Amino acid sequence: MYNISPNKCVGCGICEKLCPKGIEIFERVAKVKKVDYKNADCLEKALKACPQKAIKDITEEIILALGTDDYKVIKFDDHFGMSEHFMIYSCFKGKLSLKEKRNNVKYEEDETKLHGDPGKAKTTSSVLNDVDILVGGMFGPNITRLRNKYVCAVVREQNIEKVQGLIKDNINEIIEEKNKAQRKGLVLR
Ligand code: SF4
Repeated sequence: MYNISPNKCVGCGICEKLCPKGIEIFERVAKVKKVDYKNADCLEKALKACPQKAIKDITEEIILALGTDDYKVIKFDDHFGMSEHFMIYSCFKGKLSLKEKRNNVKYEEDETKLHGDPGKAKTTSSVLNDVDILVGGMFGPNITRLRNKYVCAVVREQNIEKVQGLIKDNINEIIEEKNKAQRKGLVLR
C-alpha cells in the first residue's frame, strides 16, 4: 500500500505516467492537483522518480496514543504525560481505528518537581509500551527522553476528529520519523 504525502506532492504528474494499472494505492488528493492513479503505469519507478519523495510504502502498522482528559479533545493545558487518558489508535494502510481507551497512571512522586523529572517520563512510558507515536498539544522537557522511544507529534488542533485527519495527512512523515535513528519530533499540520 502506497501513500502520497499532500505536504510534499506538487502535482507534477510524473508518477501518473509511470505507475502500473491496478496498483493498490491509498487515494490521495494532491495539494496542487488531483492525480489519477488508476491510470498510472509502474509504481516502483514512480516512487523513485518522484522529485519530491512524496510516495511511500505505508504497509506498516503503527500504534498511536492521543493524550486527552475527556475523550473529546486533545489535552492542551498541560504536557502530554499529564493527560488523564490515552486513546490508542492503530493506523494500517492509511486506515485509522480506535483500539482502546486507556487510563494514564498517576506519578506518585513530589509533583512540585520539575516537569523534566525522568521519573515522569518513565511513568508515562509504563502504560504506553506498545505505542510508537505520541500525539499531544504540548510536550515538556521530557520530550528528549520520550523521543528515544516514540515519535512525539504536536498538534495545534484540539478536536479529535480533525486530529485523525491530520494523522492521515502526515502518515508518510510519521512513518519516516519512526524509522529514523535520531528523531526530532513532528508538528502535524
Ligand atoms: S511524482 Fe511526486 S510530486 Fe509529482 S504528482 Fe506524483 S507524487 Fe506528486
